[in-house]
Amino acid sequence: MAEKPPAPGFETLAIHAGAAPDPVTGARSTPIYQTTAYVFDDVDHAASLFNLQTYGYIYSRLTNPTVSVLEERVATLEGGRGAIAVASGHAAQLLAFFSFMEPGDQFIASNKLYGGSITQFGRSFKKFGWDCVFVDADDPENFRRAITPRCKAIFVESLSNPTGVIVDLERIAEIAHEAGLLFIVDNTMASPFICRPMRWGADLVVHSTTKFLSGHGNAMGGVVVDSGRFDWAQNDKFKSLTEPEPAYHDLRFYETFGDLALTVHGHAVGLRDLGATMAPLNAFLTITGIETLPLRMERHVANAQAVAEHLERHPAVSWVAYAGLPASKYHALARKYLPKGAGSVFTFGVKGGYEAGVALVEAVELFSHLANVGDTRSLIIHPASTTHRQLTTEQQIAAGAGPDVVRLSIGLESIADIIGDLDQGLAKAMRG
Ligand SMILES: *Cc1c(COP(=O)(O)O)cnc(C)c1O
Repeated sequence: MAEKPPAPGFETLAIHAGAAPDPVTGARSTPIYQTTAYVFDDVDHAASLFNLQTYGYIYSRLTNPTVSVLEERVATLEGGRGAIAVASGHAAQLLAFFSFMEPGDQFIASNKLYGGSITQFGRSFKKFGWDCVFVDADDPENFRRAITPRCKAIFVESLSNPTGVIVDLERIAEIAHEAGLLFIVDNTMASPFICRPMRWGADLVVHSTTKFLSGHGNAMGGVVVDSGRFDWAQNDKFKSLTEPEPAYHDLRFYETFGDLALTVHGHAVGLRDLGATMAPLNAFLTITGIETLPLRMERHVANAQAVAEHLERHPAVSWVAYAGLPASKYHALARKYLPKGAGSVFTFGVKGGYEAGVALVEAVELFSHLANVGDTRSLIIHPASTTHRQLTTEQQIAAGAGPDVVRLSIGLESIADIIGDLDQGLAKAMRG
């Protein structure tokens, strides 16, 4: 029997998955299909497209050839079956929950999440009647204790922004699956180069592609990846995928599309009705960014490790929360789930609290003071005065964004310049 050819490596897939030379022009780089709509062959072709009987393009709110390449690329890198690219990371979270939540339903999330996600889940989702219960993810049993009959999913970040908390993905997946719940992992901070949540039981992976996937701080975007392994019919919780959909002649997504049910639903219902479509130019920029993801992540991680080790010894620094440091309580989880390094975003405590944190962000020169992460450039922010200022002080501390906390996103500049800038900034902050 002929042996199966070896699967292409991650670096190869990051450059080639989902893309081929343009069949009409031979263009090697994926074209930006800057079009709103697509001509039908004839009336029958149009009818079968609208009935979801033929795969093809109708209108760019639903699907677009440039965006499709990105979807296939990210699905492949995450080891998933299909994906839906959307306008931002928050749109990805909205679309993921929209595909199965009903008013009165509940999901459980880690309380260590990106500040914007805590607000989205805790406040805006309430307007849809979706209730999010936050628990401390350090003890996975907290998720089991919070499960109610209306609970449908568990949501965590593989590597949390900004606290760098790493959760026990495998154990939380078991708890979710024992209760027939969907396990959703935000893999933004790790990227699929560093962490593959689906290997550990994630059913859906969501990304803010705005960060490391696009990688250059120039394109907003998000993506929902479906593993294709979740049995939507195992209980009566996921009716929008198992019951007839009136808008498509009573088609049942799971029965009709099987392991692509959520991917098709996400385009045919989610993007159709929420409209949070990714622009083709942003898809192009993100595809281009992903081609160098492995190289960039290696350097991001190496630079971050060096900065974390330097700050750990720095007299103006009271603590450093980087799982790549052996002193971190997440070091063992990092070795299991993030074998290529603990990412490049982390926090540290500056001696002198709120005032020193504000003074530091004013004093740095190479670092940009802004609300983003995962750029080629090194970035700095003081969460308590910016991203987390909407939260109460208790919520700030619970989210790892107390008054003395400074968040860094270590970029790809020369390491001596990165460390030199932090040193001069900390010296100025200490002088007050
Ligand atoms: C930035 C971010 C989001 C939100 O993504 P946007 O693209 O800004 O909408 C969600 N989760 C994490 C972990 C993030 O860092």
